[in-house]
Amino acid sequence: PMRPAQRLQELPTQFFSKLVRKASEQIALGHDVINLGQGNPDRPTPPHIVKALQQAAENPLYHRYPPFSGFGFLKEAVAQRYKEDYGVDLDPETEVAILFGGKTGLVEIAQCLLNPGDVCLVPDPGYPDYWSGVALAGARMSFMPLREENGFLPDYSALPAEDVSQAKLMFINYPNNPTAAVADASFNKETIEFAAKHGIVVSSDFAYGAVGFDGQRPLSFLQFPGAKEVGVEFYTLSKTYNMAGWRVGFCLGNPEIVRMINLIQDHYYCSLFGGIQVAAAEALRGPQDCVHELVSVYQGRRDALFVALDRIGWKAAKPAGSFFTWLPVPKGYTSESLADRLLEEAKIVVAPGIGFGTHGEGYVRLGLLTGEERLQEAAERIDKLGLFG
Ligand code: PLP
Repeated sequence: PMRPAQRLQELPTQFFSKLVRKASEQIALGHDVINLGQGNPDRPTPPHIVKALQQAAENPLYHRYPPFSGFGFLKEAVAQRYKEDYGVDLDPETEVAILFGGKTGLVEIAQCLLNPGDVCLVPDPGYPDYWSGVALAGARMSFMPLREENGFLPDYSALPAEDVSQAKLMFINYPNNPTAAVADASFNKETIEFAAKHGIVVSSDFAYGAVGFDGQRPLSFLQFPGAKEVGVEFYTLSKTYNMAGWRVGFCLGNPEIVRMINLIQDHYYCSLFGGIQVAAAEALRGPQDCVHELVSVYQGRRDALFVALDRIGWKAAKPAGSFFTWLPVPKGYTSESLADRLLEEAKIVVAPGIGFGTHGEGYVRLGLLTGEERLQEAAERIDKLGLFG
């Protein structure tokens, strides 16, 4: 019989695979299921980016192994975008690593910094991949509760002092998945101060960095003085350019961490297909109207959904960014029992908050990943269940 390594036992259970299975059962029974449970962008990649890949695919240069840490032109393109969008200076050679999507970097940084038994501060609720990285490194998580009364920002002064003094790494993620909260300048400054004081490396997950509503562009962690000394930012093309399937991400900032990430990657991959790197550079350098359009599409969906939710009496805070909404569960339900009822009786998939951590209980996450009419229809179906008096 196989004897799997212990680290596999440490991985968090795939909470959401159960959800996907239940939804597939409903679809197989012929029901018209509205899936608001996943975080998978529903719209296609802009055509000029696809065209760049098509052309690059014909170039034999890209049929060979790419340079191990990726092509310089792509690192320059992302550095230029950060300069333009955030006024941040990055040295393409030493302060940029190219990743297979942001996700790999979130696991790799834990491999770079954590020994078995080390502590990592992780947001609760939070994106479950942070847990995987920490678990694979054999390290321990100390959860930072994100509470609504604090705007879903961690309260550093309330964390257990012993965990803070032992912590080597921490994750922050704004615009936030799953709470849709956006951080302000003072939170970023406070984080830098906290990290510098306790010698903790900050890993800022900026996956939803482009998606800010009402004309407010979310702030990059790297915009703030001292950020590069304490950490890195993970940036990805998945959401900004509807390129989730292309798997392009970056680790930006502290050169020592960028070096370590490249070192780990050398042993796993040999960078992304060159044609994809060409197309990724085109996304970053080409016209940015597609990004503005994407933000206005999500904002339109948010507004349509919130008008409908208000009408049926489901009161919640309107998100300022990301493409999620984080809605409080009505009385008498847990996040999971509500999700089950919505699926069984309204044929709507939502993500129960408990899947993102203990402090996610009491909420469900609905994605703005389908058209306005479908979102309105979802609200109508929910209305029929009479959940709100
Ligand atoms: N971080 C957060 C918070 C996410 O929600 C996601 C994707 O859903 C990612 C990172 C990973 O993105 P990717 O690996 O596609 O770059």
